[in-house]
Amino acid sequence: MKKFICTATVLILVATCCVALVACQTNKLKEATRYGDDYTIVCSYDSEAHIISAEQTVKLVNRSENSFDAVKFHIYANQYRQDAQNPVVPNVYRTKAYPHGDSFGDISFDNVKVNGASVAFVVEGEDCDVLSVPVEGGLFPDKSVTIEMTYQVQLADVCHRLGYNDNTVNLGNWYPILCHVDNGNYTSSPYYNVGDPFVSETANYNVSLTLPQNYLVAATGDLQDATNNGETVTYTYKANAVRDFALVLSDKFTKISKTVDGIAVNYYYYADAEPENSLDTACGMVEYLNKNVGKYPYAQYSVAETEFCYGGMEYPNLAMITSGSASYREAVAHETAHQWFYGIVGNDQIANAWMDEGLSEYLTYMYMDSTGEMPLSRSMLACTKTYVTYVDVLTRFYEDVDRSMRPINVYKNDNEYVVFTYVKGSLMFHTVYETVGAAKFWKSLQTYFDQAQFTVAPSSQLIECFAATCGDEAGAIFTNFVEGKEVIGKVTD
Ligand SMILES: [Zn+2]
Repeated sequence: MKKFICTATVLILVATCCVALVACQTNKLKEATRYGDDYTIVCSYDSEAHIISAEQTVKLVNRSENSFDAVKFHIYANQYRQDAQNPVVPNVYRTKAYPHGDSFGDISFDNVKVNGASVAFVVEGEDCDVLSVPVEGGLFPDKSVTIEMTYQVQLADVCHRLGYNDNTVNLGNWYPILCHVDNGNYTSSPYYNVGDPFVSETANYNVSLTLPQNYLVAATGDLQDATNNGETVTYTYKANAVRDFALVLSDKFTKISKTVDGIAVNYYYYADAEPENSLDTACGMVEYLNKNVGKYPYAQYSVAETEFCYGGMEYPNLAMITSGSASYREAVAHETAHQWFYGIVGNDQIANAWMDEGLSEYLTYMYMDSTGEMPLSRSMLACTKTYVTYVDVLTRFYEDVDRSMRPINVYKNDNEYVVFTYVKGSLMFHTVYETVGAAKFWKSLQTYFDQAQFTVAPSSQLIECFAATCGDEAGAIFTNFVEGKEVIGKVTD
């Protein structure tokens, strides 16, 4: 996600939230595809009632060492309910998220089958956000199961990851997705309204969507077919080894495209007065990261202008960019960096949001430096001022200020999350960069990207990649920043 930071003063700080290499990459994509579970979703969009009706089949293998009595899915769409204990939008963003007043949505299931037989599924979790599907006799390690479900997603009128608005229909985190298995158990974290509160493994998707003919669709995956049914059209997509599947629909979209390093980069827009510049930013960032970090392994990448209460939101092969935001092109670069870190290389975005947010933000600053738009030194000076001033303000109100980089649900509020994840995260990567130099910094990042792609990498893996290339000092910098023992500037009066 992209949050915007006004660095003038934290008191008004507003978060608006290569040939051999190619062959190797292709092999890793194939390996991840073989390893991944398979989702097939056949759905349609009712543009009058704002309802997605879907039939979904998931073929999965229990790759843990534990046996399970039930398979668990996150059903984030239920967090938009009127009676949700934890609303998806914090109060401070409600006005922007709900321009037409309160609106609600949910997901309801008609039928769930396991290996062809209907089962008594249970909606559970802290906030009715987990679907538990019992498996008779248990699901043992290395055994597979096929789960079919039919459901309807009622969309809310909300400028958020999932919902419809005046210009677009955002379909992020919209379908039941397997809960991440960590240490042999399903994780069932609720859909926090701070940060990007989800973790998922890469999987393979076949998705077909039927909708009115006047809509254009920006989506994860590669378009396989478009069938004209008269008043409707059915788009069929295939996406291998991606960790989610999202779409943005609009009857106002115009699409422009360019090819970069063999990758089709598409831009869907409706109000952007300088669409070519936005597309060029996406293409430039793809080129920059291909060259410096590692090759994007998919065939296409789409950027979509949309309505959203923060600056933007990343999904595999797809970025949502908030229409009219002041730092629009910066958001395009930031969400594009997420294609590498979050998308290709995954991390636990709840426990260690700095791994993708801090790095994507820092890579955006580096890219802007490379294009001459903004010197890196100036960006880092602004970050330093923001962080030091924020900590200074906190010390005026609290005796003990926790300067560690914490899980997203532990921060006191959204501002603290932004300062410690994006701002301090950028300062952390910059401190490493300044200490070890450009050559070792990029080599470390390339090693991390190469080793961790298509996985959910622990923070220790990132730190060890830098320590192995740059020495223990680099590892210590990460550890000190994460634990809140770093020294950045001076707290001034
Ligand atoms: Zn982000």
